[in-house]
Amino acid sequence: MDVTFRGGARRTFDLVIGADGIHSHTRGLAFGPEEPYHRYLDHSFAGFTMPNHLGLAHEGLTWNVPGRTAVLYAPSDGNRVYAFLSFLRPDPPLDAFRDPAAQRDLVAGTFAGYAWEIPRMVAALRDSDDLFFDVVSQIHMPRWSTGRVALVGDAAYAPSFFSGQGSSLALVGAYVLAGELTAGPDHADAYERYERTLRSFVEMNQALATEGSAGLSPRTPEDLARRNEALRDPSPVLNSTGRHAHSALALPGYDAA
Ligand SMILES: Cc1cc2nc3c(=O)[nH]c(=O)nc-3n(C[C@H](O)[C@H](O)[C@H](O)COP(=O)(O)OP(=O)(O)OC[C@H]3O[C@@H](n4cnc5c(N)ncnc54)[C@H](O)[C@@H]3O)c2cc1C
Repeated sequence: MDVTFRGGARRTFDLVIGADGIHSHTRGLAFGPEEPYHRYLDHSFAGFTMPNHLGLAHEGLTWNVPGRTAVLYAPSDGNRVYAFLSFLRPDPPLDAFRDPAAQRDLVAGTFAGYAWEIPRMVAALRDSDDLFFDVVSQIHMPRWSTGRVALVGDAAYAPSFFSGQGSSLALVGAYVLAGELTAGPDHADAYERYERTLRSFVEMNQALATEGSAGLSPRTPEDLARRNEALRDPSPVLNSTGRHAHSALALPGYDAA
């Protein structure tokens, strides 16, 4: 395959593997525009960092009203925390894409008038220089390869943070694809086995998004009350051995090439 890099360099490769995330440019080049593969999950979100004025350390705080979620997350005891504002919105806010000012206005307007830490978070959002804004969505494709091009991870089967498991799917996908390529005899067979091995595992994990959405972003007061009730007694979660989908695939072994 003849590849031209953005910087102008040209090289020829036997195979091209697109592992470039949910909005994969490689997918766009090989399979066409994102729309037919993109499944919007009715939410948008903004992530950014802000001062750790609450002194959080190795902990997170979550605030909800129906259709709105705010999270402050401190993976360490540093002086900044990760802030996260997510909201229900049936139509994807396409106008806000590629326009950070519109993204800030949209999120600030959506969270206007709420209490808790929200005013401080919205002020920090306005000042942030590391804002990440996107819709919550999944990628569903009928095939993960075409010709000599194959896709791995979010580029092919993003599950969204409602389901979790995106990192696991990406790592498992890369492992299986690499293993099948070493097993031969050619890339077409390897791509087919990669897909056959992984597809039901991917679908089971993507399906977790419905339950995850109910937990992370309850839509109605009743849903929120149910979620809070479940959190008051976390023993079923603590005692569980994990979700079936998480361990539904036994990783194949591959001989090193
Ligand atoms: C807010 C949020 C919370 C999440 N929480 C979790 C969680 O708790 N657990 C979990 O398992 N998953 C979670 N995920 C999902 C997880 O982050 C993804 O599923 C995972 O990162 C997918 O890995 P990937 O390698 O396929 O893609 P990515 O991690 O998106 O990596 C793609 C890489 O390609 C690079 N790239 C893109 N275009 C180009 C280009 N043209 N040239 C060169 N490089 C390029 C990007 O810079 C990026 O480094 C979360 C996602 C979000 C948004």
